Amino acid sequence: MNPISLRKKLTITFLMIALLSLAFVGLFANVSLGKQFEDYATARLNQTINKTVNQVTDLYVRSGEQWSISSLDETGMALLIDGLILRVEDTNGQVVWDAQVHNNGMCLRILQNMAQNMQSYQANFQGGYEEQSFPAVVNGAEVGTVVVGYYGPFYFNEADLQFLSSLNRILLIAGAVSLGACVLLGAYLARRLSKPITDVIAATGKIAEGNYSDRLTHAENTAELVALSHSVNSLAASLETQETLRKRLTADVAHELRTPLTTLQSTVEAMIDGVWTADETHLNSMREEVLRLNKLVDELGTLSRFESESLRLNTESFDLRELCQQTIQNFESIARQKGVSLTCAGSQAFVEADRDKIGQVLINLMHNALKFTPAGGTVSITTTTEHDRAVLTVRDTGCGIAPEHLPFIFERFYRADPSRARETGGSGIGLAIALAIAKAHNGDIRVSSTVGEGSEFVLSLQLHPVS
Ligand code: ADP
Repeated sequence: MNPISLRKKLTITFLMIALLSLAFVGLFANVSLGKQFEDYATARLNQTINKTVNQVTDLYVRSGEQWSISSLDETGMALLIDGLILRVEDTNGQVVWDAQVHNNGMCLRILQNMAQNMQSYQANFQGGYEEQSFPAVVNGAEVGTVVVGYYGPFYFNEADLQFLSSLNRILLIAGAVSLGACVLLGAYLARRLSKPITDVIAATGKIAEGNYSDRLTHAENTAELVALSHSVNSLAASLETQETLRKRLTADVAHELRTPLTTLQSTVEAMIDGVWTADETHLNSMREEVLRLNKLVDELGTLSRFESESLRLNTESFDLRELCQQTIQNFESIARQKGVSLTCAGSQAFVEADRDKIGQVLINLMHNALKFTPAGGTVSITTTTEHDRAVLTVRDTGCGIAPEHLPFIFERFYRADPSRARETGGSGIGLAIALAIAKAHNGDIRVSSTVGEGSEFVLSLQLHPVS
């Protein structure tokens, strides 16, 4: 089955909600209004019946305290037109006037007409002829009985039916207009909601094609959609960075290999051509290049081992501060030669880790700190604990690292110095190795630096409390 587009799905959903709510409101309005109107018709009928009784009693008084046939005739016919069938009896129960006797044909027609009206209102309306008797009381004395017949329990006249049908028409028109508005609004909302997702699909499509530079704009104010565009944007940014690094890595590897190989090639060619003799000096210089290449390959091998998931750690519990105190001894003579002061301080911080590998991290960080700190500067190492972390900080007062290089210095072969001068040393793998070791221990290395003031590398590892 072909999947339906989100826009179509949303439109259908909105339409269904609109239809359901309209049906519910329509049904509710119809039922409750009908009921209200029936109550109103019943109350109106009772009111008319009471009025009729008073009117007929009044006639008795006005006719000189006796039943006058002629005035009963007049009133009875007027009431008949209103749908009421009057019968008046005297105190002996003798019929004085009866609409059904007076004009039975009209009574039947009126009752039939009412029955028709009510059938048109409700096909299965349960109604029929009903009558109520009331005593006609004058000055406290009963002077007869007024019997009022009607179509009950209530009835609607033509005007009522017309009102009801207009009401239904208005409800129907209002329903149709609301439905139309709901369809338009639903289509608009569906478009608005699905648009950012369509944009994301287009953006991810471009990313899949290798175009990482486009970014999604967050015109929407829906939290989830903004979060989605953020995620796609950061995915694109991270892929863009990776792509840049990958290209740079290829260039860097080529650069790292080219220098020693070119040197080797020219030396060998000079020897073949007889320009140089294969003496000790030249052979030593060739060996240095070969060693440099070997070192590079070794470092890459080390890095790939550290980065591989199968890296085996020989963990033991040890104190970071003690490791620092021990490691620093190996750097004291270099520091002295450079005129850089080297200090180590801080509290005990026990970790459960591979001591040799953490020692390697420390060596790499200290090596860099000393390398990039000029004479008169300071390299200080401190150990401390923060919550459940053991923290080792290597701080120097060296040249610092420019902000644009900071995010990349942990990448392999990345060197911040643009000249890539060989005398500043390594191949740009030291920090990548250090970070790989830290990550293998579920730790991390963070860096902060200010150009001209110095840098700070912070290694954090899980603290291992000793009992
Ligand atoms: P390298 O072997 O070139 O030192 P690293 O991976 O150890 O390689 O470091 C990468 C780059 O980060 C260095 O080339 C240098 O530009 C910068 N860097 C590292 N540590 C420091 C530091 N303490 N001060 C200034 N720059 C540093």
